[in-house]
Amino acid sequence: MSIKELPTDRLSSTDEQGKRVFFYPADVKGPYKNWRKRVHAILMIVFLVLPWIKINGHQALLMDLAERRFAIFGLTFWAHDAPMLIFVFGSVLLGISLTTALWGRLWCGWACPETVFVESIYRQVERWIEGNAIQRKRLAAGPWTPKKIGLRTLKWAAFLGITLILTHSFMAYFVGTEKLAEMVTHNPADNPGTFVFMAASTAILLFAFGWFREQFCVILCPYGRFQSILMDEDSITVAYDEVRGEPRRAKDVPKDQQGDCISCYRCVDVCPTGIDIRRGSQMECIGCTACIDACNEVMLNIHKPAGLIRYTSYNAMVEKKPTRFIRPRVVILSVALTGIVSGLIFTLATRPPVKTTVFNAKTTPFQVLDAKATDPVLSNQFYLVASNYTFEHGSVRISASHPQVEVISQTNPFALDAGEEKKVGVFLKFPKSILKQGTTRIELQMQTQADNGRWEHVVSQEVPLAGPF
Ligand code: SF4
Ligand code: SF4
Repeated sequence: MSIKELPTDRLSSTDEQGKRVFFYPADVKGPYKNWRKRVHAILMIVFLVLPWIKINGHQALLMDLAERRFAIFGLTFWAHDAPMLIFVFGSVLLGISLTTALWGRLWCGWACPETVFVESIYRQVERWIEGNAIQRKRLAAGPWTPKKIGLRTLKWAAFLGITLILTHSFMAYFVGTEKLAEMVTHNPADNPGTFVFMAASTAILLFAFGWFREQFCVILCPYGRFQSILMDEDSITVAYDEVRGEPRRAKDVPKDQQGDCISCYRCVDVCPTGIDIRRGSQMECIGCTACIDACNEVMLNIHKPAGLIRYTSYNAMVEKKPTRFIRPRVVILSVALTGIVSGLIFTLATRPPVKTTVFNAKTTPFQVLDAKATDPVLSNQFYLVASNYTFEHGSVRISASHPQVEVISQTNPFALDAGEEKKVGVFLKFPKSILKQGTTRIELQMQTQADNGRWEHVVSQEVPLAGPF
Protein backbone atom coordinates (compact mmCIF):
# COMPACT_ATOMS: atom_id res chain seq x y z
CA MET A 1 0.00 0.00 0.00
CA SER A 2 1.31 3.47 -0.87
CA ILE A 3 2.42 5.69 1.98
CA LYS A 4 0.10 8.26 0.47
CA GLU A 5 -2.94 6.06 1.04
CA LEU A 6 -5.31 7.90 3.38
CA PRO A 7 -6.67 6.27 6.55
CA THR A 8 -10.09 4.63 6.30
CA ASP A 9 -10.98 4.66 10.00
CA ARG A 10 -10.71 8.40 10.67
CA LEU A 11 -10.54 11.77 8.96
CA SER A 12 -7.19 12.30 7.30
CA SER A 13 -6.96 15.62 9.14
CA THR A 14 -6.44 13.79 12.44
CA ASP A 15 -3.69 11.38 13.44
CA GLU A 16 -4.10 8.19 15.48
CA GLN A 17 -4.04 10.25 18.68
CA GLY A 18 -6.75 12.52 17.35
CA LYS A 19 -4.39 15.45 16.85
CA ARG A 20 -4.78 17.82 13.89
CA VAL A 21 -2.85 16.91 10.76
CA PHE A 22 -2.16 20.02 8.71
CA PHE A 23 -2.57 19.86 4.95
CA TYR A 24 -0.21 21.39 2.46
CA PRO A 25 -2.17 21.01 -0.79
CA ALA A 26 0.08 20.96 -3.84
CA ASP A 27 -0.24 23.71 -6.43
CA VAL A 28 -2.33 22.93 -9.43
CA LYS A 29 -2.71 24.48 -12.86
CA GLY A 30 -5.52 24.10 -15.31
CA PRO A 31 -8.66 25.62 -16.79
CA TYR A 32 -10.80 25.06 -13.70
CA LYS A 33 -8.17 26.71 -11.53
CA ASN A 34 -8.11 29.68 -13.91
CA TRP A 35 -11.88 29.98 -13.89
CA ARG A 36 -12.02 29.74 -10.12
CA LYS A 37 -9.39 32.46 -9.81
CA ARG A 38 -11.52 34.75 -11.99
CA VAL A 39 -14.74 33.96 -10.08
CA HIS A 40 -12.99 34.43 -6.72
CA ALA A 41 -11.49 37.74 -7.88
CA ILE A 42 -14.92 39.01 -8.95
CA LEU A 43 -16.49 37.89 -5.66
CA MET A 44 -13.75 39.54 -3.61
CA ILE A 45 -14.14 42.80 -5.51
CA VAL A 46 -17.91 42.62 -5.00
CA PHE A 47 -17.38 41.95 -1.27
CA LEU A 48 -15.04 44.91 -0.87
CA VAL A 49 -16.94 47.35 -3.09
CA LEU A 50 -20.59 46.46 -2.40
CA PRO A 51 -20.96 48.38 0.89
CA TRP A 52 -19.72 51.55 -0.86
CA ILE A 53 -22.35 51.37 -3.63
CA LYS A 54 -25.59 53.26 -3.09
CA ILE A 55 -28.90 52.17 -4.60
CA ASN A 56 -31.90 54.46 -4.13
CA GLY A 57 -29.76 56.49 -1.75
CA HIS A 58 -29.08 53.51 0.52
CA GLN A 59 -26.10 51.23 0.96
CA ALA A 60 -26.48 48.31 -1.50
CA LEU A 61 -26.32 45.74 1.30
CA LEU A 62 -26.71 46.74 4.93
CA MET A 63 -27.58 44.57 7.92
CA ASP A 64 -27.58 47.07 10.76
CA LEU A 65 -28.43 44.75 13.65
CA ALA A 66 -27.97 47.41 16.34
CA GLU A 67 -30.49 49.74 14.68
CA ARG A 68 -32.51 46.73 13.43
CA ARG A 69 -32.59 48.00 9.83
CA PHE A 70 -31.66 46.23 6.61
CA ALA A 71 -31.10 47.43 3.04
CA ILE A 72 -30.94 44.91 0.23
CA PHE A 73 -30.31 46.32 -3.24
CA GLY A 74 -32.42 49.43 -2.80
CA LEU A 75 -35.08 47.77 -0.64
CA THR A 76 -35.31 48.78 2.99
CA PHE A 77 -36.48 46.59 5.86
CA TRP A 78 -36.89 47.02 9.58
CA ALA A 79 -37.19 44.52 12.38
CA HIS A 80 -41.00 44.82 12.19
CA ASP A 81 -40.61 43.73 8.57
CA ALA A 82 -39.56 40.25 9.70
CA PRO A 83 -41.99 38.40 7.36
CA MET A 84 -40.35 40.14 4.41
CA LEU A 85 -36.89 39.10 5.60
CA ILE A 86 -38.19 35.55 5.87
CA PHE A 87 -39.05 35.80 2.15
CA VAL A 88 -35.54 37.08 1.39
CA PHE A 89 -33.69 34.46 3.44
CA GLY A 90 -36.11 31.74 2.29
CA SER A 91 -35.28 32.64 -1.34
CA VAL A 92 -31.54 32.39 -0.62
CA LEU A 93 -31.97 29.06 1.17
CA LEU A 94 -34.15 27.57 -1.57
CA GLY A 95 -31.81 28.95 -4.24
CA ILE A 96 -28.82 27.20 -2.64
CA SER A 97 -30.85 24.00 -2.17
CA LEU A 98 -31.88 23.99 -5.83
CA THR A 99 -28.30 24.64 -6.94
CA THR A 100 -27.13 21.75 -4.76
CA ALA A 101 -29.75 19.38 -6.16
CA LEU A 102 -28.60 20.26 -9.68
CA TRP A 103 -24.85 20.83 -9.31
CA GLY A 104 -23.82 19.55 -5.87
CA ARG A 105 -21.54 21.73 -3.77
CA LEU A 106 -21.04 24.38 -6.40
CA TRP A 107 -21.45 27.02 -3.72
CA CYS A 108 -18.69 25.53 -1.51
CA GLY A 109 -16.04 25.32 -4.19
CA TRP A 110 -16.77 28.49 -6.09
CA ALA A 111 -18.46 31.05 -3.87
CA CYS A 112 -18.25 30.25 -0.13
CA PRO A 113 -16.22 32.97 1.64
CA GLU A 114 -14.25 30.28 3.50
CA THR A 115 -13.02 28.79 0.19
CA VAL A 116 -12.68 32.10 -1.63
CA PHE A 117 -10.52 33.76 1.02
CA VAL A 118 -8.50 30.71 2.08
CA GLU A 119 -7.70 29.54 -1.45
CA SER A 120 -7.27 32.83 -3.21
CA ILE A 121 -5.73 35.01 -0.52
CA TYR A 122 -4.40 33.26 2.58
CA ARG A 123 -2.95 30.19 0.87
CA GLN A 124 -1.52 32.40 -1.87
CA VAL A 125 0.22 34.66 0.66
CA GLU A 126 1.50 31.56 2.42
CA ARG A 127 2.97 30.32 -0.88
CA TRP A 128 4.72 33.64 -1.47
CA ILE A 129 6.23 33.68 2.01
CA GLU A 130 6.90 30.02 2.83
CA GLY A 131 7.18 28.48 -0.62
CA ASN A 132 5.44 25.60 -2.33
CA ALA A 133 3.68 22.69 -0.60
CA ILE A 134 6.89 20.68 -0.04
CA GLN A 135 8.77 23.69 1.32
CA ARG A 136 5.88 24.58 3.61
CA LYS A 137 5.64 21.05 4.91
CA ARG A 138 9.38 20.95 5.53
CA LEU A 139 9.28 24.28 7.31
CA ALA A 140 6.41 23.14 9.54
CA ALA A 141 8.20 19.91 10.48
CA GLY A 142 11.56 21.61 11.07
CA PRO A 143 12.87 23.18 14.31
CA TRP A 144 12.19 26.78 15.29
CA THR A 145 15.22 28.35 13.63
CA PRO A 146 15.53 32.16 13.24
CA LYS A 147 14.50 31.71 9.60
CA LYS A 148 11.32 29.83 10.54
CA ILE A 149 10.48 32.39 13.24
CA GLY A 150 11.02 35.19 10.71
CA LEU A 151 8.88 33.56 8.01
CA ARG A 152 6.10 32.68 10.42
CA THR A 153 6.10 36.20 11.91
CA LEU A 154 5.95 37.70 8.43
CA LYS A 155 3.15 35.35 7.40
CA TRP A 156 0.99 36.04 10.45
CA ALA A 157 1.64 39.77 10.20
CA ALA A 158 0.46 39.64 6.57
CA PHE A 159 -2.55 37.53 7.60
CA LEU A 160 -3.39 40.06 10.31
CA GLY A 161 -3.17 42.98 7.87
CA ILE A 162 -5.41 41.20 5.35
CA THR A 163 -7.85 40.15 8.05
CA LEU A 164 -8.13 43.73 9.31
CA ILE A 165 -9.08 44.88 5.79
CA LEU A 166 -11.63 42.07 5.51
CA THR A 167 -13.05 42.75 8.97
CA HIS A 168 -13.49 46.45 8.23
CA SER A 169 -15.28 45.61 4.97
CA PHE A 170 -17.33 43.01 6.83
CA MET A 171 -18.16 45.62 9.47
CA ALA A 172 -19.36 48.05 6.79
CA TYR A 173 -22.20 45.61 6.08
CA PHE A 174 -23.32 45.81 9.70
CA VAL A 175 -22.82 49.43 10.71
CA GLY A 176 -22.85 51.22 7.36
CA THR A 177 -19.95 52.88 5.58
CA GLU A 178 -20.56 56.36 7.05
CA LYS A 179 -20.47 55.07 10.61
CA LEU A 180 -17.47 52.90 9.81
CA ALA A 181 -15.54 55.86 8.38
CA GLU A 182 -16.44 57.85 11.47
CA MET A 183 -15.40 55.06 13.82
CA VAL A 184 -12.00 54.43 12.24
CA THR A 185 -11.14 58.12 12.50
CA HIS A 186 -12.09 58.30 16.18
CA ASN A 187 -10.69 56.91 19.40
CA PRO A 188 -11.83 53.26 19.95
CA ALA A 189 -12.97 54.38 23.42
CA ASP A 190 -15.73 56.40 21.67
CA ASN A 191 -17.27 53.16 20.34
CA PRO A 192 -16.14 50.47 22.80
CA GLY A 193 -18.86 47.99 21.83
CA THR A 194 -18.07 48.20 18.13
CA PHE A 195 -14.35 48.07 18.82
CA VAL A 196 -14.77 44.84 20.79
CA PHE A 197 -16.97 43.42 18.01
CA MET A 198 -14.35 44.37 15.43
CA ALA A 199 -11.51 42.85 17.50
CA ALA A 200 -13.52 39.64 18.04
CA SER A 201 -14.41 39.42 14.33
CA THR A 202 -10.75 39.91 13.38
CA ALA A 203 -9.70 37.16 15.78
CA ILE A 204 -12.40 34.79 14.47
CA LEU A 205 -11.61 35.41 10.80
CA LEU A 206 -7.86 35.14 11.42
CA PHE A 207 -8.44 31.85 13.18
CA ALA A 208 -10.85 30.55 10.48
CA PHE A 209 -8.85 31.56 7.41
CA GLY A 210 -5.33 31.36 8.81
CA TRP A 211 -5.47 28.22 10.94
CA PHE A 212 -8.81 26.36 11.08
CA ARG A 213 -9.35 26.32 7.29
CA GLU A 214 -10.74 23.03 5.89
CA GLN A 215 -11.80 22.00 9.40
CA PHE A 216 -14.61 24.51 9.09
CA CYS A 217 -15.98 22.74 5.99
CA VAL A 218 -15.39 19.23 7.33
CA ILE A 219 -16.51 19.62 10.95
CA LEU A 220 -18.52 22.80 11.44
CA CYS A 221 -20.43 23.76 8.32
CA PRO A 222 -24.08 22.60 8.55
CA TYR A 223 -24.54 22.89 4.79
CA GLY A 224 -22.07 20.06 4.25
CA ARG A 225 -24.30 17.84 6.38
CA PHE A 226 -27.40 18.71 4.35
CA GLN A 227 -25.95 18.14 0.93
CA SER A 228 -26.58 14.38 0.95
CA ILE A 229 -30.33 14.84 1.38
CA LEU A 230 -30.45 17.44 -1.39
CA MET A 231 -28.49 15.46 -3.96
CA ASP A 232 -29.42 12.35 -5.94
CA GLU A 233 -28.03 10.19 -8.75
CA ASP A 234 -28.60 12.97 -11.28
CA SER A 235 -26.83 15.72 -9.34
CA ILE A 236 -23.70 16.86 -11.09
CA THR A 237 -20.65 16.65 -8.85
CA VAL A 238 -16.90 16.26 -9.05
CA ALA A 239 -16.52 12.48 -9.44
CA TYR A 240 -13.94 9.87 -10.28
CA ASP A 241 -14.85 7.58 -13.18
CA GLU A 242 -14.48 4.22 -11.50
CA VAL A 243 -15.51 2.31 -14.61
CA ARG A 244 -12.68 3.85 -16.58
CA GLY A 245 -10.09 4.15 -13.81
CA GLU A 246 -10.31 0.75 -12.09
CA PRO A 247 -8.54 -1.46 -11.44
CA ARG A 248 -6.00 1.23 -10.80
CA ARG A 249 -2.29 0.64 -11.33
CA ALA A 250 -0.82 -1.69 -8.67
CA LYS A 251 1.91 -4.32 -8.50
CA ASP A 252 -0.57 -7.18 -8.31
CA VAL A 253 -2.70 -6.00 -11.28
CA PRO A 254 -1.44 -7.16 -14.68
CA LYS A 255 -0.66 -4.27 -17.00
CA ASP A 256 -3.22 -5.25 -19.62
CA GLN A 257 -5.98 -5.27 -16.99
CA GLN A 258 -5.19 -1.89 -15.45
CA GLY A 259 -7.60 0.97 -15.81
CA ASP A 260 -6.59 4.55 -16.55
CA CYS A 261 -5.74 5.52 -12.96
CA ILE A 262 -1.99 5.21 -12.52
CA SER A 263 -2.16 5.61 -8.70
CA CYS A 264 -0.03 8.72 -8.79
CA TYR A 265 -2.00 10.28 -5.89
CA ARG A 266 -1.79 13.67 -7.54
CA CYS A 267 -5.55 14.13 -6.96
CA VAL A 268 -4.97 13.48 -3.24
CA ASP A 269 -1.94 15.79 -3.07
CA VAL A 270 -3.91 18.79 -4.34
CA CYS A 271 -7.07 18.21 -2.32
CA PRO A 272 -7.55 21.00 0.26
CA THR A 273 -9.82 18.84 2.44
CA GLY A 274 -7.51 15.83 2.42
CA ILE A 275 -9.70 13.24 0.73
CA ASP A 276 -9.27 10.70 -2.00
CA ILE A 277 -12.00 11.33 -4.56
CA ARG A 278 -11.50 7.80 -5.87
CA ARG A 279 -13.34 6.54 -2.77
CA GLY A 280 -16.56 7.99 -4.15
CA SER A 281 -18.69 10.98 -3.21
CA GLN A 282 -17.75 12.18 0.26
CA MET A 283 -19.15 14.75 2.63
CA GLU A 284 -15.73 16.41 2.93
CA CYS A 285 -15.54 17.17 -0.80
CA ILE A 286 -16.17 20.89 -1.34
CA GLY A 287 -16.24 20.53 -5.13
CA CYS A 288 -13.19 22.74 -5.60
CA THR A 289 -12.22 21.00 -8.89
CA ALA A 290 -8.49 20.95 -7.99
CA CYS A 291 -8.44 17.17 -8.49
CA ILE A 292 -9.99 17.55 -11.98
CA ASP A 293 -7.18 19.84 -13.13
CA ALA A 294 -4.56 17.68 -11.43
CA CYS A 295 -5.77 14.43 -12.98
CA ASN A 296 -6.27 15.99 -16.41
CA GLU A 297 -2.63 17.06 -16.35
CA VAL A 298 -1.64 13.48 -15.54
CA MET A 299 -3.87 12.11 -18.30
CA LEU A 300 -2.32 14.53 -20.76
CA ASN A 301 1.17 13.32 -19.79
CA ILE A 302 0.27 9.66 -20.24
CA HIS A 303 -1.62 10.35 -23.48
CA LYS A 304 -5.04 9.35 -22.19
CA PRO A 305 -8.22 11.34 -22.62
CA ALA A 306 -8.95 13.96 -19.93
CA GLY A 307 -11.90 13.55 -17.62
CA LEU A 308 -11.04 10.57 -15.44
CA ILE A 309 -12.15 12.94 -12.69
CA ARG A 310 -14.80 15.30 -13.98
CA TYR A 311 -18.08 17.05 -13.36
CA THR A 312 -20.71 14.39 -13.97
CA SER A 313 -23.67 12.63 -12.40
CA TYR A 314 -23.78 9.10 -11.04
CA ASN A 315 -26.35 8.14 -13.67
CA ALA A 316 -24.25 9.49 -16.54
CA MET A 317 -21.00 7.97 -15.29
CA VAL A 318 -21.96 4.60 -13.83
CA GLU A 319 -25.39 3.79 -15.24
CA LYS A 320 -24.53 5.33 -18.64
CA LYS A 321 -27.91 7.07 -18.66
CA PRO A 322 -28.42 10.71 -19.61
CA THR A 323 -28.51 13.07 -16.65
CA ARG A 324 -32.07 14.13 -15.88
CA PHE A 325 -32.38 17.79 -14.98
CA ILE A 326 -36.15 17.70 -14.53
CA ARG A 327 -36.92 15.43 -11.61
CA PRO A 328 -39.23 15.57 -8.55
CA ARG A 329 -36.90 17.33 -6.10
CA VAL A 330 -35.82 19.87 -8.72
CA VAL A 331 -39.45 20.55 -9.65
CA ILE A 332 -40.52 20.89 -5.99
CA LEU A 333 -37.61 23.20 -5.15
CA SER A 334 -38.16 25.26 -8.34
CA VAL A 335 -41.87 25.66 -7.60
CA ALA A 336 -41.15 26.62 -3.98
CA LEU A 337 -38.45 29.08 -5.08
CA THR A 338 -40.68 30.62 -7.74
CA GLY A 339 -43.49 30.90 -5.16
CA ILE A 340 -41.34 32.58 -2.52
CA VAL A 341 -39.66 34.93 -5.00
CA SER A 342 -43.05 35.86 -6.51
CA GLY A 343 -44.39 36.43 -3.00
CA LEU A 344 -41.43 38.68 -2.26
CA ILE A 345 -41.79 40.65 -5.49
CA PHE A 346 -45.55 41.05 -5.00
CA THR A 347 -45.20 42.12 -1.36
CA LEU A 348 -42.49 44.60 -2.26
CA ALA A 349 -44.35 45.99 -5.23
CA THR A 350 -47.48 46.57 -3.17
CA ARG A 351 -45.75 47.71 0.02
CA PRO A 352 -46.23 51.43 0.73
CA PRO A 353 -43.37 53.45 2.28
CA VAL A 354 -45.52 53.77 5.40
CA LYS A 355 -48.19 51.28 6.35
CA THR A 356 -51.16 52.66 8.29
CA THR A 357 -54.00 50.64 9.74
CA VAL A 358 -56.90 51.88 11.84
CA PHE A 359 -58.41 49.62 14.53
CA ASN A 360 -61.48 50.03 16.67
CA ALA A 361 -60.51 50.62 20.29
CA LYS A 362 -61.88 47.79 22.39
CA THR A 363 -63.56 50.12 24.86
CA THR A 364 -67.16 51.34 24.84
CA PRO A 365 -68.56 51.41 21.28
CA PHE A 366 -69.36 55.13 21.55
CA GLN A 367 -69.47 58.03 23.94
CA VAL A 368 -72.09 60.75 24.07
CA LEU A 369 -70.25 64.07 24.37
CA ASP A 370 -73.28 66.36 24.33
CA ALA A 371 -76.60 64.65 25.01
CA LYS A 372 -78.54 67.89 25.41
CA ALA A 373 -77.86 69.23 21.93
CA THR A 374 -80.68 68.96 19.38
CA ASP A 375 -78.38 66.72 17.42
CA PRO A 376 -76.40 64.85 20.12
CA VAL A 377 -72.64 64.87 19.64
CA LEU A 378 -70.97 61.45 19.80
CA SER A 379 -67.46 60.11 19.67
CA ASN A 380 -65.89 56.76 18.76
CA GLN A 381 -62.37 55.74 19.72
CA PHE A 382 -59.87 54.18 17.30
CA TYR A 383 -56.19 53.39 17.18
CA LEU A 384 -53.95 54.10 14.23
CA VAL A 385 -50.88 51.89 13.87
CA ALA A 386 -48.30 53.36 11.50
CA SER A 387 -45.07 51.61 10.43
CA ASN A 388 -42.38 53.48 8.54
CA TYR A 389 -40.53 51.03 6.27
CA THR A 390 -38.10 53.60 4.92
CA PHE A 391 -34.86 55.08 6.22
CA GLU A 392 -36.36 58.62 6.08
CA HIS A 393 -38.16 60.50 8.82
CA GLY A 394 -41.67 61.55 7.94
CA SER A 395 -45.12 62.43 9.24
CA VAL A 396 -48.67 61.10 9.14
CA ARG A 397 -51.81 63.25 8.91
CA ILE A 398 -55.29 61.78 9.46
CA SER A 399 -58.44 63.28 8.03
CA ALA A 400 -62.03 62.13 7.61
CA SER A 401 -63.84 62.18 4.28
CA HIS A 402 -67.18 63.12 5.88
CA PRO A 403 -67.45 66.89 6.41
CA GLN A 404 -69.26 66.45 9.74
CA VAL A 405 -66.71 64.08 11.23
CA GLU A 406 -63.91 65.70 13.18
CA VAL A 407 -60.65 63.90 13.89
CA ILE A 408 -59.37 64.50 17.39
CA SER A 409 -55.91 63.35 18.29
CA GLN A 410 -53.26 64.66 20.66
CA THR A 411 -51.00 65.20 17.67
CA ASN A 412 -52.26 65.39 14.13
CA PRO A 413 -50.10 65.27 12.08
CA PHE A 414 -47.62 63.23 14.07
CA ALA A 415 -43.96 62.54 13.37
CA LEU A 416 -42.87 59.05 12.38
CA ASP A 417 -39.15 58.38 12.53
CA ALA A 418 -37.34 56.15 10.05
CA GLY A 419 -38.25 52.54 10.80
CA GLU A 420 -40.57 53.56 13.63
CA GLU A 421 -43.80 51.78 14.45
CA LYS A 422 -46.26 53.97 16.35
CA LYS A 423 -49.70 53.46 17.85
CA VAL A 424 -51.76 56.62 18.16
CA GLY A 425 -55.16 57.03 19.79
CA VAL A 426 -57.75 58.81 17.61
CA PHE A 427 -61.26 60.02 18.46
CA LEU A 428 -63.84 60.68 15.78
CA LYS A 429 -66.40 63.27 16.81
CA PHE A 430 -69.66 63.49 14.87
CA PRO A 431 -73.36 64.39 15.20
CA LYS A 432 -75.82 61.57 15.72
CA SER A 433 -77.78 62.63 12.65
CA ILE A 434 -75.20 61.13 10.28
CA LEU A 435 -75.99 57.64 11.62
CA LYS A 436 -78.64 55.38 10.14
CA GLN A 437 -80.08 52.98 12.69
CA GLY A 438 -77.14 53.68 14.99
CA THR A 439 -74.38 53.09 12.47
CA THR A 440 -72.67 54.30 9.31
CA ARG A 441 -69.36 53.93 7.53
CA ILE A 442 -66.97 56.71 6.62
CA GLU A 443 -63.54 56.92 5.06
CA LEU A 444 -60.41 58.01 6.86
CA GLN A 445 -57.47 59.30 4.87
CA MET A 446 -53.92 58.82 6.09
CA GLN A 447 -51.50 61.08 4.29
CA THR A 448 -47.87 60.09 4.85
CA GLN A 449 -44.97 62.26 3.80
CA ALA A 450 -41.18 62.06 4.04
CA ASP A 451 -39.54 65.15 5.56
CA ASN A 452 -37.11 65.27 2.64
CA GLY A 453 -39.95 64.97 0.12
CA ARG A 454 -38.74 61.63 -1.27
CA TRP A 455 -42.20 60.13 -0.97
CA GLU A 456 -45.78 61.05 -0.30
CA HIS A 457 -48.54 58.51 0.02
CA VAL A 458 -52.27 58.62 0.74
CA VAL A 459 -54.24 55.62 1.98
CA SER A 460 -57.97 55.43 2.61
CA GLN A 461 -59.61 53.08 5.04
CA GLU A 462 -63.28 52.62 5.69
CA VAL A 463 -64.23 52.58 9.36
CA PRO A 464 -67.60 52.01 11.05
CA LEU A 465 -69.14 54.66 13.29
CA ALA A 466 -71.53 53.63 16.00
CA GLY A 467 -74.03 55.38 18.25
CA PRO A 468 -77.40 54.90 19.93
CA PHE A 469 -80.46 54.06 17.76
S1 SF4 B 1 -4.65 11.96 -10.32
FE1 SF4 B 1 -5.82 10.65 -11.70
S2 SF4 B 1 -4.40 9.06 -12.21
FE2 SF4 B 1 -3.53 10.03 -10.45
S3 SF4 B 1 -4.32 8.88 -8.72
FE3 SF4 B 1 -5.74 10.51 -9.05
S4 SF4 B 1 -7.28 9.63 -10.37
FE4 SF4 B 1 -5.51 8.29 -10.50
S1 SF4 C 1 -12.00 15.78 -3.86
FE1 SF4 C 1 -11.44 17.16 -5.52
S2 SF4 C 1 -13.15 18.57 -5.67
FE2 SF4 C 1 -13.37 17.50 -3.73
S3 SF4 C 1 -12.36 18.88 -2.28
FE3 SF4 C 1 -10.82 17.39 -2.94
S4 SF4 C 1 -9.80 18.36 -4.66
FE4 SF4 C 1 -11.66 19.51 -4.31
